[in-house]
Amino acid sequence: MTAMSGAGKSFAAPRGTYDLLPPESRRWQAKVRLAMDTFALAGYDPIETPAFEQTEVFERGVGAGSEVVTKQMYTFQDRSGRSLTLRPEGTAPVVRAVIEHFMARGALSGAVPLKLAYASAMFRQERPQKGRYRQFFQVGIEALGSDSPLVDAEVIEIGFRYIRSAGVEPRLSLNSIGHNDSACRGGYVEVLSDFLRGRVDELAPEDRERVSTNPLRTFDSKEAQTVAVMADAPVISDYLCEECKQHFSNVQMLLKNLDVPFDLEPRLVRGLDYYTRTTFEYVAANLGSQNAVGGGGRYDGLAEALGGPSLPGMGFALGIDRILLAAEDRASERGGVDVYFVALGDEAASVALRLATQLRADGVGADLDFTGKQMKGQMKDAARSGAKWAAIIGSEELAAGEITLKELATEKQERVAFRDLIRTVRS
Ligand code: AMP
Repeated sequence: MTAMSGAGKSFAAPRGTYDLLPPESRRWQAKVRLAMDTFALAGYDPIETPAFEQTEVFERGVGAGSEVVTKQMYTFQDRSGRSLTLRPEGTAPVVRAVIEHFMARGALSGAVPLKLAYASAMFRQERPQKGRYRQFFQVGIEALGSDSPLVDAEVIEIGFRYIRSAGVEPRLSLNSIGHNDSACRGGYVEVLSDFLRGRVDELAPEDRERVSTNPLRTFDSKEAQTVAVMADAPVISDYLCEECKQHFSNVQMLLKNLDVPFDLEPRLVRGLDYYTRTTFEYVAANLGSQNAVGGGGRYDGLAEALGGPSLPGMGFALGIDRILLAAEDRASERGGVDVYFVALGDEAASVALRLATQLRADGVGADLDFTGKQMKGQMKDAARSGAKWAAIIGSEELAAGEITLKELATEKQERVAFRDLIRTVRS
């Protein structure tokens, strides 16, 4: 077909996005499937929320002072003037949905925690680089309704085991940021603010504002000047209240019990009020500057921030794009097709389409030539398809109601009646 006149201009995927193409897309699909299967084995059921939410869900759910909300969201007005935002992360939408659908009477019914898993595209307008995109893909789990350290340990172990089975050797950094009370994190934030005010001139200029708006977030800075100052900063672990200390030591004990190795990282924070206690991050050794493959934590205050009742929560999000970069495996050479029909002539092609359809209905992958190529060309396509067999239908086969079934790896061939095809390829 010829191009429409007046076109001339061609298009590329928007900056910071990329097209996922075969065979790499097969790897991507396998990693996502493995994740959802791994999560399901621990009782995490899939949830799918809309790709966009009311902007306020993220302003309250991620925090109006966070970088994601202030600088990175794709926010737009729809035709009715509502402010909507493409989801930059998965937790706030899941908690919004749980409050809306599962907590009508103020409490969860059924087994607690409620366990949910998602696999979704996320959108953030960040400066693109290797491993950092404007549309990226996360798998994650959320456990809602229990503040037991058992839940923290379960969630952290599941993420760790999945990353490993996806072909990446993770390092786990672990911290507790206590809870939002003057006897715990509140007191610490004051000590930290005093410290930062004393050294504000040494911080990178872009980080100075955080000293008054969100001092904890100063730990997130990647600026060398700031990182150097933060090395001297007081750390939260010295200021945790008794209960938070106990919770954290239980989590560590349980992780040891599960043989999950971790490094205590007192500077790992999530500087939002409703993040509580456990925070963690999985890092891949063989990635460059964007080396975090996932992270998470406890967020016992999030449901209330979204207008719901009190609902403790714990979860993680893992970046599939980065797991694909870090995993040292290759795309499988084979796609989903087992049998490739090589049909000579129109009548044979129509028989091939019917037989392929029957195979597919029986769960066997099948494909065929649609362009009336010569035998040689079709045999080449059969090999390229990754199929195990070429099923050849020439005039002689057609007359006999048979197929020449050729095993491509061994070149062994046999004649099989049409009706015996399924049985033969299955055996
Ligand atoms: P976060 O939701 O920021 O805690 O991120 C969790 C994980 O998602 C990170 O560890 C990354 O693996 C991945 N991730 C976050 N932002 C991006 C991005 N812009 N591009 C690719 N992956 C990302």
